[in-house]
Amino acid sequence: MRAEGIETVRRILCVFPRYTSSFGTFEYAYPLTDGVQAFMPPQGLLLIAAYLPEHWPVRFIDENIRPASQEDFEWAEAVFVSGMHIQRQQMNDICRRAHAFDLAVAIGGPSVSACPDYYPSFDYLHVGELGDATNDLLARLARDPSRPEQQVVLKTADRIAMTDFPIPAYELADVKRYFLGSIQYSSGCPYQCEFCDIPGLYGRNPRLKSPQQIIAELDKLLACGVTGSVYFVDDNFIGNRKAALDLLPHLVEWQKKTGYVMRLACEATLNIAKRPEILEKMRDAFFVTIFCGIETPDPEALKAMQKDHNMMVPILEGVHTINSYGMEVVSGIIMGLDTDKPETGEALIAFVDETKIPLLTINLLQALPQTPLWDRLEREGRLIHDEGRDSNVDFRLPYEQVVSSWRKCMEIAYQPERLYARYQYQCDYTYTNRIKVPVTPEQKSWANIKRALIMLRNIFWKIGVLGDYRKVFWKFALGRLRHGDIEGLIASTMIGHHLIMFARDASEGQQNASNYSIRLREASVPAE
Ligand code: SF4
Repeated sequence: MRAEGIETVRRILCVFPRYTSSFGTFEYAYPLTDGVQAFMPPQGLLLIAAYLPEHWPVRFIDENIRPASQEDFEWAEAVFVSGMHIQRQQMNDICRRAHAFDLAVAIGGPSVSACPDYYPSFDYLHVGELGDATNDLLARLARDPSRPEQQVVLKTADRIAMTDFPIPAYELADVKRYFLGSIQYSSGCPYQCEFCDIPGLYGRNPRLKSPQQIIAELDKLLACGVTGSVYFVDDNFIGNRKAALDLLPHLVEWQKKTGYVMRLACEATLNIAKRPEILEKMRDAFFVTIFCGIETPDPEALKAMQKDHNMMVPILEGVHTINSYGMEVVSGIIMGLDTDKPETGEALIAFVDETKIPLLTINLLQALPQTPLWDRLEREGRLIHDEGRDSNVDFRLPYEQVVSSWRKCMEIAYQPERLYARYQYQCDYTYTNRIKVPVTPEQKSWANIKRALIMLRNIFWKIGVLGDYRKVFWKFALGRLRHGDIEGLIASTMIGHHLIMFARDASEGQQNASNYSIRLREASVPAE
């Protein structure tokens, strides 16, 4: 559905802010691609763009691709911005630039919904999800697009059901410039992990779109030119297991019909390993990756953070079970927990070697507003508001010790030999469990072959010839070439390159240790 009952016409400029460099946005991989410049199309802003009255002209600018220009601001009558905490500075900067053109600026999304006081300069704060606040904002702009005398805060009390959400305006985004496609089926999570703001922001009872909406969205993504990988940005794909089971047969049918043009990925809790009926259907729907917030291999720590559900099955067994359905596990890991000991770093490296998970996002604990962790640390006087620090948590262990342990873990985990050994394991024991998908006309098209050739040329030149870990690379690459696995070669080496380069920066202290943006929440829908 769209906003209705508005007769005036307003030109809306939607601007998505730049990300600061982050482990989870893979920017070191971009120069190896055929022109990727940004991570994922932002679901939230594209949803709002689709919800605007049909006769309102709208422009969408992702500043990760190009900055909003003078001409864009001169064209617009109002500006909409959305993003996560990590994009706070950039959002405030967009507001400043828009005000230079005397434009009213509205901000929505997860950051302002959790922390309205981060954004004192904006004219309109849209707090909460798509709903009555959105309609109020549009009605106000329709009446008068000029800047209000003082800030107006609009809070959603009555949310629009996700079944009434329009399809995000993917057509406004230059989808070929993104590393991944994105889509969202559900919002919210039934668990209450201490550090997580999802249940507080989006609720514990997951809200859902219908399978038919998802199929229509996939059709639209495909029509817009998205092929390759598409990420379900749901907070927890199995937050409502029945809903996942309802959706999966539709995905399987769609993949069969379109020739498996998309490789799917999602986030889910590790206890998915106890659900073979779900895993089987996910394999059939060509899910190839699951991000699991394993957080720590330490059972005592899992208990303390109220993530006991990770222990429903032994972690190693859970990872291997998921692998046996052809899906690679990507894992979130947190260091700096109250339960950490001086030997935690070593235990973590042993865990990485044992699970053979190639991609782990290893972050320092960061307390997010509106989480039980924040409340507890505030009570204990352990929140530190110092932008120069890598975390706002006063750790139990000395800060320097925790940060240097994090740097050491990044350095060791992403040594090229170690990383490629883990990828080799995935090739031998995980990817072989995937269904064999037919080669589609799309894959055989000249455009696709040209794309692959460009990426191979970049990879061979920049890593195979110029790279300082070329020996390790060639050992892996020749094995893939012998198996005719070009796709696997491109995917593993591109992502591997990012991990190796980012980890080097991190171990030299050039990257922040709290990349909580990695949880991919940035692309999630509702809090616009
Ligand atoms: S960390 Fe994951 S499982 Fe825990 S509450 Fe957040 S979304 Fe749910």
